[in-house]
Amino acid sequence: MTSEIVLVGRSNVGKSTLFRLLTGKRVRVGRRPGVTVGPARAVVGNVVYVDMPGYGYMKGAGKKVQEGTKDFIVRRFEEKTEEILLAIQVIDAASFVEIADRWEERGDIPLEVELFEFLTELDLAVVVAANKMDKVKDPDATLDEIAERLGMLPPWSQWKDKIAPISAKAGDIEPLKEIIRSRLPSRGGRSQS
Ligand code: GDP
Repeated sequence: MTSEIVLVGRSNVGKSTLFRLLTGKRVRVGRRPGVTVGPARAVVGNVVYVDMPGYGYMKGAGKKVQEGTKDFIVRRFEEKTEEILLAIQVIDAASFVEIADRWEERGDIPLEVELFEFLTELDLAVVVAANKMDKVKDPDATLDEIAERLGMLPPWSQWKDKIAPISAKAGDIEPLKEIIRSRLPSRGGRSQS
């Protein structure tokens, strides 16, 4: 059985930038706005990295395509739960709280909070990659707010296995790599001490 590490999140949060960093792959076939495509995949060692299409709003895509993509993503997670080593929910740390609060004010459950709850309820190992930290003025305060919106009691530093502040564009993703390493199966059945 293959083990997957799956990247998911709304579009423009930096998923493909992160996918390239993690896998060294540049190619992204058939990814155009408005076209529902399967996820991008790349094999690294004995793990398959999977990059899902954007969850929710997609520039240039109609409502029907967006809903179809959401359904596809949800179904794929449900069907592949057993094979998923780690789900990486990528968020834009610089805009997450503002967007979540806007949804709350409208009386809606914020899309990304809903996605996080869905992944957690599937009993998956989930990490939130808080990307674009280079754009955030007060990292600790922002990460506390993000944790709080996701139902984790601040301070965020209690949740370093669940929240990884990164900047994919700057290549600064060590906290996430550390979490990935901790999830990787030991090679050749030898124990990793
Ligand atoms: P995707 O739609 O989620 O796959 O997002 P992309 O990887 O295409 O990135 C969307 C935009 O965000 C691009 O302009 C990236 O250069 C930019 N971006 C990605 N990561 C970062 C980051 O860590 N910091 C900043 N400031 N911009 C980023």
